[in-house]
Amino acid sequence: EEKKSLNFIEVIVEKDLKEGKDGGRIQTRFPPEPNGYLHIGHAKAICLDFGLAQKYNGICNLRFDDTNPVKEDVEYVDAIMEDIKWLGFEWANVYYASDYFPKLWDFAVQLIKEGKAYIDEQSAEEIAKQKGTPTQAGTDSPYRNRPIEENLDLFEKMNQGVFEEGSMVLRAKIDMASSNMHFRDPIIYRIIKQAHHRTGNQWYAYPMYDFAHGQCDYFEGVTHSICTLEFVVHRPLYDWFIDQLATNEYRPAQYEFNRLNLTYTMMSKRKLLQLVKEGFVNGWDDPRMPTISGFRRRGYTPEAIHNFIDRIGYTKYDGMIDFALLEYAIREDLNKRATRVSAVIDPIKLILTNYPEGETEVLTAQNNPEDENSGNHSVVFSRELYIERDDFLEDAPKKYFRLTPGQEVRLKHGYIIKCTGCKHDEAGNVIEVYAEYDPLTKSGMAESNRKVKGTIHWVSTSDAIDIEVRLYDRLFVSENPADEKEGDFRDFLNPESLIVKTNCKAESYLKEAKAYDHFQFQRIGYFNLDPDSTPDHLVFNRTVTLKDSWSK
Ligand code: ATP
Ligand code: MG
Ligand code: MG
Repeated sequence: EEKKSLNFIEVIVEKDLKEGKDGGRIQTRFPPEPNGYLHIGHAKAICLDFGLAQKYNGICNLRFDDTNPVKEDVEYVDAIMEDIKWLGFEWANVYYASDYFPKLWDFAVQLIKEGKAYIDEQSAEEIAKQKGTPTQAGTDSPYRNRPIEENLDLFEKMNQGVFEEGSMVLRAKIDMASSNMHFRDPIIYRIIKQAHHRTGNQWYAYPMYDFAHGQCDYFEGVTHSICTLEFVVHRPLYDWFIDQLATNEYRPAQYEFNRLNLTYTMMSKRKLLQLVKEGFVNGWDDPRMPTISGFRRRGYTPEAIHNFIDRIGYTKYDGMIDFALLEYAIREDLNKRATRVSAVIDPIKLILTNYPEGETEVLTAQNNPEDENSGNHSVVFSRELYIERDDFLEDAPKKYFRLTPGQEVRLKHGYIIKCTGCKHDEAGNVIEVYAEYDPLTKSGMAESNRKVKGTIHWVSTSDAIDIEVRLYDRLFVSENPADEKEGDFRDFLNPESLIVKTNCKAESYLKEAKAYDHFQFQRIGYFNLDPDSTPDHLVFNRTVTLKDSWSK
């Protein structure tokens, strides 16, 4: 196997290991906020956090960053765990930031006692106004020098629910003139009067992200705390809090990589939630969603997602990845694993007028030409078949290599046939197509090598089952729908992101399919069986087309 070059975080880890930092220990965490389902961007973070632990004999914990009871829910906790497991990773422990509320509280009290935090009774707007600008120092809050005893008393009452939301906050007292805006007395606790999904009504004072995150890392013994680039400017504050807290040499260190942005979709959980709540999609696992559960339902595989993430890599600059690259990875993977079958989306009858009536024969179809161990399955052939409506044209242009009167085509796995004509209804629509088959051209026979330009797929009417097919396409028509300069993302929804086709026909072999099984419908695309299916009503999702039709 070819040796892959290290990404920049692996380089740091290897150096730290060599130097024996933290006793040569590697510990990471994946810290989702349980306020939505995981998306493909999270998968990128997961592959790094869990991947590093795997590669360097370390551990990776799952830590729910549940410091804001307003948006969080156990439904999300369960879904997140399922999705991480599906991606093929195992956490060493599950932790919750809320488990550390008592310790975080004690630390906040310590800061107050050391004169490093104070209760500010100004509104959030007033506090923001006093922040100043990067080139101009901020203004001190009138509460900045409040006596320690008063701060302790108010902090206690804040947490008892004595005060209303927004009436006061606890701020760290650092430097209102710092060139790093995050040092200008950041808010570290606020009042939220809502039950928390784990701690109920035990707390009314809740820690802010910046106050909780690094300290949780420290409490757990995290060595490499990896997040996305927007936290670069938070890093000095992360270190400052740890410096106040640490009693020994050990320090967790934060590293940042580029978040994943993908064209034609978006990663904001807030906006994805809007799509769900406002009914633009059928839930978080709608196959059009960029969520892990949506992709699973769509027929994407963990292996393909891993390959995609390997390919895009980790860097220190932000960018936009073409959705086509993800689809390329999906095709590449499904090409190796999907069983080839025949299904007709828009059926019309083809009658082979010289084939004996009432007779059928069994032909052999290779399950996957890319995999010699994949075996074969049988398909039934008969006088009457279904073919795609657009595989016949009465008046065809020159380069049309499918069925048109007088022209030969090959029937996949079967015979060469010659089109003889068609039948119309009163309105002039074609309702049946006629052809004659050449008995000496059966697949494998000498005559079968005769040169014909087109091959079409078909399903025998005697064997066909009815299936529903859901043709999924990109959810948005805009490359960057979340870009607010362009307008509201809901205006960029693709009206053809889901087209449902009922009365499609497929070979009866598909009756054996299990939910999520992967297939290639010959000439059409990759599909999987949707879990909505029942034995009498099979539903197939289009995972991806055979070719990229979006690239310019
Ligand atoms: P949002 O603000 O939309 O809720 P988030 O980044 O706050 O998104 P979290 O649940 O906090 O979502 O994310 C958990 C982890 O996943 C974090 O470490 C975060 O850096 C990482 N992550 C989130 N989105 C992406 C992305 N698009 N690309 C890479 N990593 C991501
Ligand atoms: Mg968030
Ligand atoms: Mg977050």
